[in-house]
Amino acid sequence: MKISIRFQIVALVAALLAVAMGVYVFWAARLVTRDRMASIYDLNSVLAGSLSDQVDIGMTGLAEKLRYFGAEAREQEGTVQHARALFSTDADVLALEIWRRDASGAFARAFAYTDPDRLGSLNLAEKDLEDARQQTPVPIEQVATEKVLVQNASLAPDLALLRVAAASDDGRMVVIADLRPDRVLRIFGTTALYRAYLVDARGTVLVDPDPARVISHADVSTIPVVKDALEAKVPRGAREFQTGGADLIGAFARVKTGRLAVVIEVPKEEALRAPKQLSRRSAYFALGVISVALLVSIYFSRRLTAPLRSLEGTMARISQGEFGIAVPVTSGNEIGSLATAFNKMSRELSEREAQLHEKNAQLIQSEKLSALGELSAGLAHEVKNPMVGIVGFAQVGRGAASMKEAQECFELIESNAERANGILQNLLEFARPQRVEFALLDPNAVVKGALRLVAHQLSIGGVKVETLLAEGLPQIVGNGNQLRQVLINLMMNAGQAMEGAAEKVLRVATEAQSDGGVLIRVADSGQGMTEEVRQKLFKPFFTTKPSGKGTGLGLSVSNSIIAQHRGEIRVESSPGKGATFLIRLPRFDSTSAPQTTPGLPTKVPAGVSRA
Ligand code: ADP
Ligand code: MG
Repeated sequence: MKISIRFQIVALVAALLAVAMGVYVFWAARLVTRDRMASIYDLNSVLAGSLSDQVDIGMTGLAEKLRYFGAEAREQEGTVQHARALFSTDADVLALEIWRRDASGAFARAFAYTDPDRLGSLNLAEKDLEDARQQTPVPIEQVATEKVLVQNASLAPDLALLRVAAASDDGRMVVIADLRPDRVLRIFGTTALYRAYLVDARGTVLVDPDPARVISHADVSTIPVVKDALEAKVPRGAREFQTGGADLIGAFARVKTGRLAVVIEVPKEEALRAPKQLSRRSAYFALGVISVALLVSIYFSRRLTAPLRSLEGTMARISQGEFGIAVPVTSGNEIGSLATAFNKMSRELSEREAQLHEKNAQLIQSEKLSALGELSAGLAHEVKNPMVGIVGFAQVGRGAASMKEAQECFELIESNAERANGILQNLLEFARPQRVEFALLDPNAVVKGALRLVAHQLSIGGVKVETLLAEGLPQIVGNGNQLRQVLINLMMNAGQAMEGAAEKVLRVATEAQSDGGVLIRVADSGQGMTEEVRQKLFKPFFTTKPSGKGTGLGLSVSNSIIAQHRGEIRVESSPGKGATFLIRLPRFDSTSAPQTTPGLPTKVPAGVSRA
């Protein structure tokens, strides 16, 4: 799978940022949470402690006051006075009672007092207080031993009542006060964060910001922090717990008098609101930063890879032969120097290709000249014959008896001169380095042209030439001079291969191919070749001939010429069985036919007129 650099950069940036932000937010949130928890624990403990102290002071003070009141109460009249005085100093007191141990040892109520005005202002009647006493009686004996008892004496549906009972030091007298819980409640107060309440030794709510819990004598002994408060060996403590599906942080502090305990509850959710908010906001912030970073990195990586993509496109074009094209150099960074290096490479490739083409053309030309060298003896002979004829007919013409006879001589001289001229013309045309232009050609004409040049050479070697040229062949696109060069090379190779052979026949044939192309076959009855030779045949400078006779370039040049014609050349041969060279040329296709092959020189050398 191909993963683009751009994607890799973006993915890397995103991953790094996500990890960094994640770790940071995690640690920050953890730190803040821990810190917050620690301070909540401390705060709860301190608060519980201070509340318990205040409750203690309040209760001790009240108990003292009650004891003093009980001690002072001798006869009915004076006691009422004292009771009034006590009522006037304490707005929460609703009723007072004094119980004394009689001669039999049992406690009996000796005095009771209520203030009708105070009751009236609260919409209460004396009966309500009596009902409360009935429903929640004071365990007098217990008070006598424990000295102080605080009790929830509330009465449904709406009377919240706190009862404080204090016994004299000798345990013979108990003073009981019924109070509104307002004063204690004021100590406790409450905020959105914490809730504080007071429980007695059995885990019953005595004072609570929620009056319903007080009036219903709610039993909270199962709440873990209350349990701790009732059972723990230490007077203070804090813990986390769950109740009713909510997570809470709690603390307790036992009150020194009356076996009471102050309990504080803080919903964890509320306590950790700030750290949670911090985490959430940090997460949003991290998301934002990551998104911005992603956008920025997409933008920059795009800028980074755009020149690379342009380079890629240009490379593809170069690989298809468009040497010399350049990419724009847009920056001075590494990519810019890559583009510069690339452009330099492209330029050099183009120069080298031009050099290569020139060398190739020179090779073709020199191979052609070498073929010409070999042909020259035969061709000289070919020209010499008409010359001898011309001289002969000229002499005959000089002694001609009649005008008619002279006329005949002139005609013969003309035809011989034309023949010699034709041969030389043919030779010149072949030898001259030409601008390589492709044209529509008749394959048979090309074959005949080649045969004309080698005919004499072959006939000197005693080679019999048989041609089988198909009629109505399709035209091909090519360069006649180059194709002739190929055929001349094949025919001369054939002639050389048949030197010393018993049968010397060169068969040249053309035929149409089913795909619209043309096949040219050059077969000889010579010595043939081994497999090894066959493998190396088309390699440059491969020759089995003695130096001076072979250059080893003929077939390699032929091969490159046929390749430029988009055709192919191959050989069938085995030792002693002759060799057959087959050239396949593709059918003429008007859309793909090149006018000028790029691989060959297109310049017309100076001093040579174009054919
Ligand atoms: P050269 O003719 O200069 O040797 P070529 O490239 O034309 O170079 O041929 C290469 C070699 O291929 C020859 O030396 C010869 O061994 C072998 N060869 C070419 N044509 C024939 C043929 N018709 N029969 C046998 N061998 C051949
Ligand atoms: Mg050759």
